[in-house]
Amino acid sequence: MQPILFIDRDGTIIRETEDEKIEKVEKLDFLPELLYYLKKIKEEFDYLFVMVTNQDGLGTEAFPECEFWPVHNFIIRLLESEGIQFDAIHIDEHYEKDNHPNRKPGTGMLTAYMNGDYDLAHSFVIGDRATDVQLAKNLGCKAIYLNSAYSDTTTKAELMPKGWKEIYEYLVSLR
Ligand SMILES: [Mg+2]
Repeated sequence: MQPILFIDRDGTIIRETEDEKIEKVEKLDFLPELLYYLKKIKEEFDYLFVMVTNQDGLGTEAFPECEFWPVHNFIIRLLESEGIQFDAIHIDEHYEKDNHPNRKPGTGMLTAYMNGDYDLAHSFVIGDRATDVQLAKNLGCKAIYLNSAYSDTTTKAELMPKGWKEIYEYLVSLR
């Protein structure tokens, strides 16, 4: 069975911004060494690559789709130009107050991966928020909790790396 990497977008692939909204390329920065190490993971392992991202209020006046998609599509095109293809991308637009089952740490968008066809015991959620760690628990997989300004130190995960080099080396060490 194939294991999965459920990878968060903001704060994990690209830098989180203070207003938690990246609606123009001027606000876009990739995490250091992300492209190099994610490409190595893609090439050297057999993980399914699944992006899971909360985009609060996407489609509302506060965050219209016309602001979101050009930046998002650029991120995806750039990753693909390095050979980093995501097998699936799941985007939830709800706010925390909506309590919607699709919003991380809810698994509403991810039920297709929980039917026994994937090796969840050897799968990881990689993210920078406590909700990503909780998502891992809800999916029955492990958590890699990127250390960032937004990390909550009381949340424990299998690995709390500083960056993608450490994530790559950790995955290598498990082989
Ligand atoms: Mg994040």
